Amino acid sequence: MTVFIQASYFAAAVLFILGLKAMASPVTARRGIQWGGIGMVLATLVTFATPGMQNVGLMLVAIVLGGGLAAYLGRVVRMTDMPQMVAIYNGMGGGAAAAIAALEFARGHVHGTTATILAVLGALIGSVAFSGSCVAFAKLQGLMKKAFRLPAQNAVNLALALAVLGLAIRIVAGGFPLGSDLIVFFVLSLVLGVVLTTPIGGADMPVVISLLNAFTGLAVGFEGYVLGNPALVIAGIVVGASGTLLTQLMAKAMNRPIANVIFTPISGAAQGGAAVSGTMKEASAMDAAAMMRFAQKVIIVPGYGMAVAGAQHKVWEMARLLQEAGVEVKFAIHPVAGRMPGHMNVLLAEAGVPYEMIFDLEEINEEFATADVALVIGANDVVNPAARTDKSSPIYGMPILNVDQAQNVIVNKRGKGAGYSGIENALFYGENTRLLYGSAQQAIADVIADIKTLQG
Ligand code: NDP
Repeated sequence: MTVFIQASYFAAAVLFILGLKAMASPVTARRGIQWGGIGMVLATLVTFATPGMQNVGLMLVAIVLGGGLAAYLGRVVRMTDMPQMVAIYNGMGGGAAAAIAALEFARGHVHGTTATILAVLGALIGSVAFSGSCVAFAKLQGLMKKAFRLPAQNAVNLALALAVLGLAIRIVAGGFPLGSDLIVFFVLSLVLGVVLTTPIGGADMPVVISLLNAFTGLAVGFEGYVLGNPALVIAGIVVGASGTLLTQLMAKAMNRPIANVIFTPISGAAQGGAAVSGTMKEASAMDAAAMMRFAQKVIIVPGYGMAVAGAQHKVWEMARLLQEAGVEVKFAIHPVAGRMPGHMNVLLAEAGVPYEMIFDLEEINEEFATADVALVIGANDVVNPAARTDKSSPIYGMPILNVDQAQNVIVNKRGKGAGYSGIENALFYGENTRLLYGSAQQAIADVIADIKTLQG
């Protein structure tokens, strides 16, 4: 029986790894999710066969409740609300890891120095991931002010972190009794997660979510060791490693060292950056249609506004019309466009845009200078030239898509709304920029109608 259980856990772990590999490409991503899901079902089922398993009834109730709620939410969640959903699910993983540690300590099941150290570390990291993710969820859901900074925030963080570490050492050295040390340790770890996350807002949120995700993976891996469960160890380490890599990639994409994200965060409120003057010049749908219809090369830059409007299908319809008229059309994707990693890729893939028309920042940035028209649809921060030129701007140093270098720039947005970081954007006032006002779905539908009129 034990061999069967271990073999099943191993098979589940292999499925997780293969699933993750398949998720690396949009072509195979669906298959990857299915493999990961099958692995998860296998690991869950085989847990029931573990000798000495107790509370089977409670486990079933938890599975039905949790699984039912997740299935329902997965169906109804809007694409634009996905980041907070990811944040809260991630938090649940961290919380579960911390709960396992608490229970194993309470039952006196943690034996040996290595297991104790890992259990304590898992409890600490899992608690931080849990409370930090809850704060991230509240911010993204708009339940909480985007950033809240205590006086002497870094000193508070440091004092708390030292207190938690001190307690962790005492617990390991003192043979982990279920006493006040352990309770205070968990409470302070949860508070640490809250104080680390509350000051972070602005454009740093994606990096934080990814970092907390890496934390959850590590915590799960550590607790997997304590439980002697290889599937948990492998799944946790895979999540921890991929989360760490993603965090580094995103931090690089935004030119924000991870230490800066945590210790000198950008606040969510509009602040910093040089004042922008000038007027925004409007373009009608027909102006935009004519500029693109008679262009040789058009580069489309989608952003958060396209996601809110759900305009991706219309955008692809317009791109096809332009292609039929002989225009070269490309899509340029910034790594943090939208509100979650890969947000724009998912939307464009859903609309049926072929992958070979979609280019990452490094691949396409040089080409803006040769484009007749750059069409920005609901993007703002990721095309803000202040990131290149204005040292006082909170997004200074973040690589951006160089749309301002195109011959003509058309920006579709509804009005004067700021982007996620809340700062002004000089691009909108540029000599070669025209504003196509309106919600993206309707605005692009109007452009499509006018391109058709021009085709005759
Ligand atoms: P931004 O949030 O910078 O800008 C979005 C723009 O879209 C706004 O200026 C708004 O202007 C416009 N808009 C809103 N609704 C519509 C609509 N219905 N139709 C047309 N336009 C609309 O988006 P970007 O994609 O440029 O940048 C993403 C930002 O989000 C970055 O700062 C990034 O760091 C941050 N972020 C990214 C995450 C990720 O993982 N990708 C996660 C969390 C945050 P108006 O109101 O005038 O219409």
